[in-house]
Amino acid sequence: MTAIEELSPEAQAALTEILKCTSCGLCKDVCPVFAVSHREAESPRGKVNLLQALLEEKIDSTKEGIDIFNRCLLCYACQDACPAGVKTEKLWVPARDLLAREAGAPFFKSYILRKLLSNPELAKLGYRLAKKLPGDDNRIHVRGKILPRPAQDRLDKLLPEILEARGKFQGTVLFFPGCLLTEIFPRVGYQAAELLSNLGYRVITPKKRGCCGAPQFNNGEMDVAREMASRNIELFSSLEFDAIVSPDATCGGAFHHEYDLLFPEGSPLRQRYQEVLSKVKDFGEFLYDAIFRQESLGFQPVDKLVTVHDSCHLSHSQHKADIPRRLLAFIPDLTMVESDRNELCCGFGGSYATFFPDESRKIAQRKLGYLTAGNCGVIAVGSPGCLWKLRTEAAELSLDVRINHYVEILWESLLGRPLQEQSGKSNYSQATLFDSNEDEANF
Ligand code: SF4
Ligand code: SF4
Repeated sequence: MTAIEELSPEAQAALTEILKCTSCGLCKDVCPVFAVSHREAESPRGKVNLLQALLEEKIDSTKEGIDIFNRCLLCYACQDACPAGVKTEKLWVPARDLLAREAGAPFFKSYILRKLLSNPELAKLGYRLAKKLPGDDNRIHVRGKILPRPAQDRLDKLLPEILEARGKFQGTVLFFPGCLLTEIFPRVGYQAAELLSNLGYRVITPKKRGCCGAPQFNNGEMDVAREMASRNIELFSSLEFDAIVSPDATCGGAFHHEYDLLFPEGSPLRQRYQEVLSKVKDFGEFLYDAIFRQESLGFQPVDKLVTVHDSCHLSHSQHKADIPRRLLAFIPDLTMVESDRNELCCGFGGSYATFFPDESRKIAQRKLGYLTAGNCGVIAVGSPGCLWKLRTEAAELSLDVRINHYVEILWESLLGRPLQEQSGKSNYSQATLFDSNEDEANF
């Protein structure tokens, strides 16, 4: 057995967390993966024990160990539920990093993360080719894996690099839509930018942006994640703006948490990262403040019963689950209902949905059961990953419910109808979201 002082600083930090665990098992009650697998090894407690054994070298790193740590959504509901304060965010990614270094990451996954998605031009080509692959409206199938189907046109075809402010000028924002809103849901990305523009912001969406690097970071590919993050920091530093916002909570969270770990004190880009970080704002909070400051915006009524699905990156990681609710509360006639078990993840989990499609489907369908129990007509989400997962599984179950990003609902109320004072200001289709089933490909 290795003495703790002989371990690396990261391993020592992980072991310090592990030693807080009292084995009470309360984390198992909130773990969506354990709820469908019923395997102790895949539960948070099981993984804590496994990681301790690995760090203390009581067992060797194996492919099976890699598989177990990959069978985790990184939703961090377990962290919020733990009475002993075990910070699982200090365990699961370092475990993947450790295992990837010692036993090697799975080839296909590693290839996609390291080679394809890390290179913006190759990624663009990959998305273009992926449109032609077999599957259905929402999904493509590649060698038994499931991926979201890219939209016909990527966001940059619809949105100019600079969208000028309308009305009284409030400032300039750097808009970082993230890969899913760029490639899978460009309509939502467009609507988010258009909301900002109508609130008086000049919106810069740099064409040279790459992925934020969160998928690589979360899968233990730290060197590639750092390289991608560095490129983004360099790009952001070369532009003039007042704030950076991302309607994808995953990217917004990455700027705060993952980048902080990738550029620790003493690293060459630390200072530039901190300058950038000082301008990073949560998109929902930014939107809320911008709306709140306006005298009257003419929100049109949306007479719907809406329930909010708490996206993990907003609720467990950032503890900002109230933001979508506060935004939707601006809309007249919209009634919100709360659903049970909102701590449960939708089953997306980034690469989890791709590599464990059966388990991911079961988790999503279980969550949809809770979300639809109150007979709501609309489920609002705050992340494009949840939007894809829940929409895909609702379609699979033929559920009579709409799944929308809260951006879509706000856009519908503010800009979606030909309001007199706004007519001609939008080059977007005037079809209402609730009355049409227009999909991304038709936009
Ligand atoms: S809830 Fe916390 S203390 Fe209890 S088993 Fe899980 S990790 Fe350990
Ligand atoms: S992060 Fe989520 S999926 Fe992973 S062990 Fe914790 S509760 Fe389970």
